[in-house]
Amino acid sequence: MGFDQLHLVPALLSNVRAAGYSEPTPIQRETIPLVLDRRDILGCAQTGTGKTAAFALPILQILARNPGASHRDIRALILTPTRELAQQIYDNIVLYGKGMTPRACVIFGGVGQQNQLDALEQGSDILVACPGRLLDLMNQGFITLEHVEIFVLDEADRMLDMGFIHDVRRITARIPQAHQTLLFSATMPKEVEQLAMDVLHNPASVKVDPVSSPVEAIDQYMYYVDKANKKRLLASILQESDVENALVFSRTKYGCDRIVRDLRKAGIDAVAIHGDKSQGARVSALKRFKSGECRFLIATDIAARGLDIEGLSHVINYDLPMEPEAYIHRIGRTGRAGKSGTAISFCCIDEYKQLGQVEHLLGFRLPVHESQWPMEITTPTQPAARGQNPRPANVNFKGEAAQPHVSMARKNPQVPARPLHKPVQRINRKKV
Ligand code: AMP
Repeated sequence: MGFDQLHLVPALLSNVRAAGYSEPTPIQRETIPLVLDRRDILGCAQTGTGKTAAFALPILQILARNPGASHRDIRALILTPTRELAQQIYDNIVLYGKGMTPRACVIFGGVGQQNQLDALEQGSDILVACPGRLLDLMNQGFITLEHVEIFVLDEADRMLDMGFIHDVRRITARIPQAHQTLLFSATMPKEVEQLAMDVLHNPASVKVDPVSSPVEAIDQYMYYVDKANKKRLLASILQESDVENALVFSRTKYGCDRIVRDLRKAGIDAVAIHGDKSQGARVSALKRFKSGECRFLIATDIAARGLDIEGLSHVINYDLPMEPEAYIHRIGRTGRAGKSGTAISFCCIDEYKQLGQVEHLLGFRLPVHESQWPMEITTPTQPAARGQNPRPANVNFKGEAAQPHVSMARKNPQVPARPLHKPVQRINRKKV
């Protein structure tokens, strides 16, 4: 089946041809006619399946056919969890909509708002947004959603994981009742199912390659390796000739930075992206990686979610993920759009449980390769004794440990330490 059988207008057909797409992917085949029929969609789709074009092409067509009163009215809103994903969706819309009338705009946090406000002024028939910045600009009175006709909620499960679900509900409450909603999620946890029931009206279900079936073109295998040797194994793999470029996943932000440091010590250039990096640093790291200037990108799951990196040859799980589904998302960064790829996982003794969960989800055991650093430590690390590494009693709104309280006495030794509790005055009361 070709794109021409999907009743798309000539401009879109020539733009997808120019993008190098010869035929629609399964999700595009199923979704495009339904969206053009103005149906609500509940889409369960794996990353890298061509989901963006599945919603962007029909949206461009619907808006181009019925131009609005002003380009400043937001008629299609696409909500997505991360800045990188927002930028990527916007770039694709610009590509697919070349030479067409609808104008697109993207907004996300971490950068100044003035450029985004200027862009909104230029025209924003289609707005791609992250929830935080959108709510912020709505609250400041710069954005109204009263003209929205089509609402896309992308990566709904990740919105939930990142704690955005309340923001999403606040946003949906401000969209007019009569609109078309397209909700996409790789997995369907209960909260997302509930949200879908609340926001969708008689939706058509589109399910392509559930999350437990990663793209078959990916060659997956693993190494058993001690934690301390992971850096050596990584450096040796990255120097192999078939590794053109690699996305390396670390469980923590600190871990990302440490891996970059270790690789640089071994003479290998690498860049990191994670939530603690400034937007400028994230953009420049991605740019260096995408342009091929730096071949290795080290990332946490949240920062790497949905990234579309053309021709990524390797994904390496330096740490296995805590949730098995994340394994599928991670390795889905390679083997995209019909190309082949390799996914390598490292497993130390403390990660046996995660490995079991991943293999259970996959339905097969990962083939084991041997390296010069075989696993030698076979006793799991004992959990830290009480008080040695206490769990944070307080966590901040991001779920990170809150800064310990520093008393005035410690900041300034002149100030006498204050007792934690006021001494209790005992009052002898007579019982009546
Ligand atoms: P997405 O799942 O939307 O992030 O798309 C994943 C990758 O597939 C992107 O690099 C797209 O450019 C590419 N792509 C999308 N649709 C097609 C298609 N019909 N044929 C070939 N590549 C495609």
